[in-house]
Amino acid sequence: MFNRNFAALILFFMDRIKVYDKTFVPYIPHDELMGCIDKVAEEINRDYAGAEDVPVVLCILNGSIMFTGELMQRLNFPCQLVSTKMTSYVGTSTTGEVKQTMPLTASLKGRRVIVTEDIVDTGLTLVALKKILEEEGASDVKICTMLFKKDAYRANEKIDYIGKEIPNRFILGFGLDYNELGRNLRDIYVLED
Ligand code: 5GP
Repeated sequence: MFNRNFAALILFFMDRIKVYDKTFVPYIPHDELMGCIDKVAEEINRDYAGAEDVPVVLCILNGSIMFTGELMQRLNFPCQLVSTKMTSYVGTSTTGEVKQTMPLTASLKGRRVIVTEDIVDTGLTLVALKKILEEEGASDVKICTMLFKKDAYRANEKIDYIGKEIPNRFILGFGLDYNELGRNLRDIYVLED
């Protein structure tokens, strides 16, 4: 029953994808995403080479799950995976209100943290997250994002590692959803004009 409903919600036609009421077209192919992840992994490995602590990779659920999984396979120093869930988007736009909808899965007190985000848009999530990590007592916080919507960014937080800058358009796939669908797509799609 579930599969039949699901098939009705995501329709593939030519290289386009229809999810609910919206049509998406191919945008960033899987191979290009892998190249972006290789690049940030190299930068992080260089910066954390010889670490004597065990830095934390903090996965921001749900969107960052695919990116974090790929990134961690490329990190060559001992690191611990911790997760939390932050929510701000409904449909194709931000509500402007960020909520932590799942607490941190481990204490970060005194730990160096690498935050892994699928996409940084307005930066509101980062601001809320930085506050949480400060209160939590993390000793150092670096921000790593697969994608960055530079023109939409309104925060002052430094972003330390960026896979790729993209224009301010709504995208789907490789962890990113439209009302919880599309996260399992291997490539990234963009909302058709
Ligand atoms: P920010 O707080 O920086 O405005 O937004 C960050 C979060 O909004 C991301 O982690 C992601 O969940 C969501 N988001 C921002 N832009 C997009 C987009 O183009 N597509 C999707 N699916 N989610 C987005």
